[in-house]
Amino acid sequence: MHEDTIATIVELIAGKGERQYGLSAINQRAHALQAAHLAEQAGCEPGLIVAALVHDIGHMVHDLGEDPAKDGIDDRHEALGAAWLDGRFGPAVTEPVRLHVAAKRYLCGKESDYFARLSPDSVRSLALQGGPMSAAEITAFEARPHFSEAVQLRRFDEGAKVKGLEVPDVRHYVPLIRACLLMPLQ
Ligand code: FE
Repeated sequence: MHEDTIATIVELIAGKGERQYGLSAINQRAHALQAAHLAEQAGCEPGLIVAALVHDIGHMVHDLGEDPAKDGIDDRHEALGAAWLDGRFGPAVTEPVRLHVAAKRYLCGKESDYFARLSPDSVRSLALQGGPMSAAEITAFEARPHFSEAVQLRRFDEGAKVKGLEVPDVRHYVPLIRACLLMPLQ
């Protein structure tokens, strides 16, 4: 199971990562690797670095095509991704992934200039994802465990859309992935 999980993550990011990342000029692989690199550069815990690497794995495990948002479909990739990660990783990895879209809705409601800084694909998907959080939703979100990691991940996500940036390969993260895997049941 453990080696299977590692191999699947490496394969998805190295292989299906060819899919374009929404409207961006980069593909899913570059996006995942840049997000992980930003988390590592920021000195984050291993769980958040791995979360950044796999935060969009939900886009890679569905068959809704390359860009479902263009057809007005929210692929619920954060829930799909977290469901895939559940049982393989603990909450330090699964929760930021599960909450990273909510964190975008949170930041749009919380910070007046955040929406203006969103990339075009993020603006497009925001409406499908429920729009900016209300004041009551903001208060509830701030009380959730892993709230601040989810917000950090969301900032790495938004920053990980730079065309042509050289960053480490997915294999660089294998030891970290291994360290974050849940112990198999005895
Ligand atoms: Fe992303």
